[in-house]
Amino acid sequence: MGRTGKIHSVETCGTLDGPGLRYVVFFQGCPLRCQYCHNPDTWKISDGKEVSVDEIMEDILKYKSFMEFSGGGVTASGGEPLVQYKFLEDLFKRCKEEGIHTALDTSGCISISNVKEVIKYTDLVLLDIKSYDVERYKVVTGVAATSTLEFARYLSDINKSMWIRYVLVPGLTDDFNDIKQLAYFISTLRNVERIELLPFHKMGEYKWKELGYEYKLKETEPPSQDMIERVKNIFKEYELNIK
Ligand code: SF4
Repeated sequence: MGRTGKIHSVETCGTLDGPGLRYVVFFQGCPLRCQYCHNPDTWKISDGKEVSVDEIMEDILKYKSFMEFSGGGVTASGGEPLVQYKFLEDLFKRCKEEGIHTALDTSGCISISNVKEVIKYTDLVLLDIKSYDVERYKVVTGVAATSTLEFARYLSDINKSMWIRYVLVPGLTDDFNDIKQLAYFISTLRNVERIELLPFHKMGEYKWKELGYEYKLKETEPPSQDMIERVKNIFKEYELNIK
């Protein structure tokens, strides 16, 4: 039956979280409380449904030909998949035995020593950097600055492919100095294939209401096209491949 873990849901034909068509597993549990989170229903590890690695693999294999044909694979997202790093390790190990590409969508907020094995079975890390600035990180995520930047450096040192993600929220993560420092930091890393600038949106707001949480960004609008271009230009100045 294999190890069991808690998941929120799966998406069988995702196109946003990594290359090609992806089977996306949304893991339950996250230590952060990002103001813009669109999956607050994944926060509590006590929620969600328990599944075994065998059960998920059985379902994944039904889509293997689509993944192969499109250059896709399996993505672990959430929530924070690394909260259940042993479960994830078993899942990705099985994927690699089947020759399936693996991507991990993470904020990197976990002790590196715990997740070295998982990373061995991960082809691509989609690393969400919430802010370069320590104080702002806390404002955005509700927790003290964590190990994201150290994690990025570790991935660089071991030559792991990365896509870096940055959510642009007017009035929260649009400080050009912070972004410049982040761009410089990323330019010192090896193997960053692209940077994805994700404009803030409110698609998850209704979930906050349903769960009885206070949504602090209800007055915040998505960034203008002008702001998006200006921020992209900062990354371009450091010759980074920004999408
Ligand atoms: S890390 Fe992701 S799942 Fe966790 S609170 Fe932030 S946006 Fe939500």
